[in-house]
Amino acid sequence: MLELIDQINKIYRAIDQQIEVLQQASGLQCPSGCGKCCENPQVETTVLEVLPLALELVQRDEAEYWLEQAAHANHSGVCIFYQPDHLVAGNGRCGVYAWRPSLCRLFGFASITNKHGQSELAACKIHKQTMPEVLATLPIELAPNFSDYSMQLRNLNPDQSDLLPINTAMAIAINKVGLLRDYQDY
Ligand code: SF4
Repeated sequence: MLELIDQINKIYRAIDQQIEVLQQASGLQCPSGCGKCCENPQVETTVLEVLPLALELVQRDEAEYWLEQAAHANHSGVCIFYQPDHLVAGNGRCGVYAWRPSLCRLFGFASITNKHGQSELAACKIHKQTMPEVLATLPIELAPNFSDYSMQLRNLNPDQSDLLPINTAMAIAINKVGLLRDYQDY
């Protein structure tokens, strides 16, 4: 399990590095404090992708607390790790930023392949509104590709790669990691 989590983290580092290069080349940034993408109640991820986060929570002895939060949210809705800024609508922060899954890293910065076989940015609505000139000149070849990274992650363990609501995936991952820790079998 620890080896698998290392491999997931390596892919996350590659995503982050590629996004940094894209940001430096293009100037594409999220508006300060924006949390709109996290306010979507339909964010999905896989159990595999939240294993690093589950391990972190188990090691912090917070597994029980977060399992209760997920149950309280009925394992659905807005991500339980989102911390809204109650003073500014649409603003907020991720409470587990370093451990977030690939969609949360790639959203607004990744390319998809369109029906003509060409790469295009899967641009975020807020980026389209606030920086159309940056999007117009963005070097798309530098953008990480959603499908490439999804495939790399899926190939690590296809059995844990079905898309689920993020709070459901988290609860399953915490239970998996917690169980393995109980049996000293990471
Ligand atoms: S893990 Fe973090 S970035 Fe992803 S939806 Fe939850 S709060 Fe937002």
